[in-house]
Amino acid sequence: MGDKKSPTRPKRQSKPADDGYWDCSVCTFKNSAEAFKCLMCDVRKGTSTRSGLILTGSE
Ligand SMILES: [Zn+2]
Repeated sequence: MGDKKSPTRPKRQSKPADDGYWDCSVCTFKNSAEAFKCLMCDVRKGTSTRSGLILTGSE
């Protein structure tokens, strides 16, 4: 099934340019891998805004 001329993936979508960059989860600013925090809002790299205290939820 589906074994007829399957075009190989035209590696065009993934660009190795944004390899060392990370987008700020707050302001979506593109920081370099060297930056450990956002240059715009000083948010730490990898910090999730939604991942906070999960103490609430007892009720
Ligand atoms: Zn930011």
